[in-house]
Amino acid sequence: MTDTDKVLKCQFLVSIQSVTRTTGGTVGTSLPRFWNCANVVPTAEEALVPQAIGALPAAFLSTLQNASLYIFADVAGYNNYFSATGTPFALPPGLLGSTPNSFLDIAAIFETTGSGVNYLPYLRGNMMHEIAHRLDLDTISAGLPSSAPAFINAANATQSAMTGTWPAPASPSCQQVFGATSPLCNPVPVISPWNQYSNVFIAGQDRNKELFADAFQNCSNQELQSVSKNNALQSIYKKDLWTYMNTSFWPGGCPRQE
Ligand SMILES: [Zn+2]
Repeated sequence: MTDTDKVLKCQFLVSIQSVTRTTGGTVGTSLPRFWNCANVVPTAEEALVPQAIGALPAAFLSTLQNASLYIFADVAGYNNYFSATGTPFALPPGLLGSTPNSFLDIAAIFETTGSGVNYLPYLRGNMMHEIAHRLDLDTISAGLPSSAPAFINAANATQSAMTGTWPAPASPSCQQVFGATSPLCNPVPVISPWNQYSNVFIAGQDRNKELFADAFQNCSNQELQSVSKNNALQSIYKKDLWTYMNTSFWPGGCPRQE
C-alpha cells in the first residue's frame, strides 16, 4: 500500500462518517509518517501534534522512520480504516490510543471516547504515550527497553514506593501521589496508591510497558487530561522512572523538577 492509498482510504473513510475531510501527509522528510484522519484542515490542537513529534530527539525519529502515526476522530474511525486495509485489528470503544504489538508499524490516538470529556488539548500527551510504545517495540537491537533489567528495577522501585508500608500507616497517602483534590482519593480508596494507579491507569495491561510509556510521556512534558495521573507521574514516588529515562533511554531529556 502506498502513501497515496492511505490518504485516499482516509478520505473515503471520513466521507462514510459524513464529515468533510481529511488528509494524510508526510511531515518533513525525516519524520515518521503522520496522518491526520480526523480533519482535512488540521485544527489548532491537531496541528500541535506533528510539531511535538518533530521536536523529539533525532534518534527517536530515526527509530520511528518506518512508523506511521495517526490521529482518528474515534475508535470507530480506526476500525473502519484498518478493517478496510485488511488487518485483523478491531479495537473496543473507549480508548484514547492504540499501538499494536505486531503486524503494523503504527501508533494511533483518538480524539474522543464518547464520554463527553474533552481530550483535544491533550492530543500531544496521548500521542507521546503511544509513541513510547512504538519506540519500545521498534528499538529492537537489544530487546524491548521496557523488558531491560534496568527498567524493571525502576518499575519495581516505583511500585514499592507507591505502596509504601500501606496500610499501617498509609505511606504514601493517596493525596500525596494523586494530588490534594484528586477524585481518585474521594473517598480514599481502601487500596494502596500503587494498586489505585494500577487499577485505573494500567487496567490489566502489561505493567512494564505501561510504566515505560507513562515515563516517556512525562519526560516529553506533554500532559494528559488526568490531573491525577500527571500528579502521580511528577511525584517523588516516580523518581526511579525519571532517573531511568534521564540516564538510559532519553539521556539528559528528563531531569526531575524538584
Ligand atoms: Zn499504553
